[in-house]
Amino acid sequence: MNDAPTYGFDTLQIHAGARPDPATGARQTPIYQTTSYVFRDADHAAALFNLQEVGFIYSRLTNPTIAVLQERIATLEGGAGAVCCSSGHAAQIMALFPLMGPGRNVVASTRLYGGTVTQFSQTIKRFGWSAKFVDTDDLDAVKAAIDEDTRAVFCESVANPGGYVTDIEALASIADAAGLPLIVDNTSATPYLCRPIEHGATLVVHSTTKYLTGNGTVTGGAIVDSGRFDWTASDKFPSLSQPEPAYHGLKFAETFGPLAFTFHGIAIGLRDLGMTMNPQAAHYTLMGIETLSLRMERHVANAKKIATWLEGHDAIEAVTYAGLDSSPYADRVKRLYPKGAGALFTVALKGGYDACVKLVDSLELFSHVANLGDTRSLVIHSASTTHRQLSEEQQVAAGAAPNVVRLSIGIEDADDLIRDLDQGLAKASA
Ligand SMILES: *Cc1c(COP(=O)(O)O)cnc(C)c1O
Repeated sequence: MNDAPTYGFDTLQIHAGARPDPATGARQTPIYQTTSYVFRDADHAAALFNLQEVGFIYSRLTNPTIAVLQERIATLEGGAGAVCCSSGHAAQIMALFPLMGPGRNVVASTRLYGGTVTQFSQTIKRFGWSAKFVDTDDLDAVKAAIDEDTRAVFCESVANPGGYVTDIEALASIADAAGLPLIVDNTSATPYLCRPIEHGATLVVHSTTKYLTGNGTVTGGAIVDSGRFDWTASDKFPSLSQPEPAYHGLKFAETFGPLAFTFHGIAIGLRDLGMTMNPQAAHYTLMGIETLSLRMERHVANAKKIATWLEGHDAIEAVTYAGLDSSPYADRVKRLYPKGAGALFTVALKGGYDACVKLVDSLELFSHVANLGDTRSLVIHSASTTHRQLSEEQQVAAGAAPNVVRLSIGIEDADDLIRDLDQGLAKASA
């Protein structure tokens, strides 16, 4: 599909990157369950290893099933290229890896997935990297946090889990003025609700584990490159702008232009970090993406209906869903997320921590799991689970205070979900 950009989203989510299998004519993308690929001859092998010819060598780097998924995600996000990997957390490390180095920092939103806060505040220190957390609604604070060692700005579009949506355009202009890439985790919005690259993002990362696959079957991640960042404009990004000793002095930015970050992700990132997706996972995710827009429409419609119902319930103190007209972010949603603010939100219970735990234990249709973005509706008490490693101050900043339950609204019948919540809330407040 070389003329892909002329097709609409619903068409691209089914066709982008795919073509009938050249060997068999198979219409659905086959699962190429193989580790390696026979070279035509010694010259062909040498050209592949020198990155002079694009092809398949070994499945730690590239695989035909995963290549289709990469092209599909890149197309849906409006990017130049994408690299898939084993999980959303792997995608975050792989996105930062070419940019960072010992002593360098990333300026990150306080409103992030709990695991990301832990990854950024603790684990990346082992690499000599650090994160500076800021409230991304305070644009002066974002500017002030950027220093000469900053190498990226990081945020989530629809932020997990607090009913917050980021003003990507405002952050992109700050990052741009500082000569830095903006990385947007678009997991909770998906490219159907938001395409961060259109609002100025440099890189988009995904946990494909969530809505893209959509039914809670496999973990995966993706890094999409807009192809628009000039890595040679400063001396801040030597991995991309300077000669790479492992490839005879090749310069990624010079050789691959808008695909520099993507090729670096495969040729250095996957080759040496080894956080590779497997072809079975790519298959499940390709199946999921075929119905992404249909599912997201239902997820959003159900979330809106249920959040509105909860807002009027006696046991509820607050509902933080950015898709509600009462949300402080209602205008931002209209401007940047016109198709909806996702299906993930939190409710604060008047009964506090104890009522939250009782609600989680009383629900029958909602599953109590540490996941989101499933066809099934899910519930979790973040403060005692996903955000448990954080201080109470960090929990509150992330929208995961102890009196708050997170709901990931599925695509079941909304009235059935409301009935389940109603009986659960009755038990929780008894
Ligand atoms: C789940 C999630 C991640 C981590 O993804 P994994 O696939 O679980 O590694 C990162 N960001 C967000 C917003 C997520 O929801």
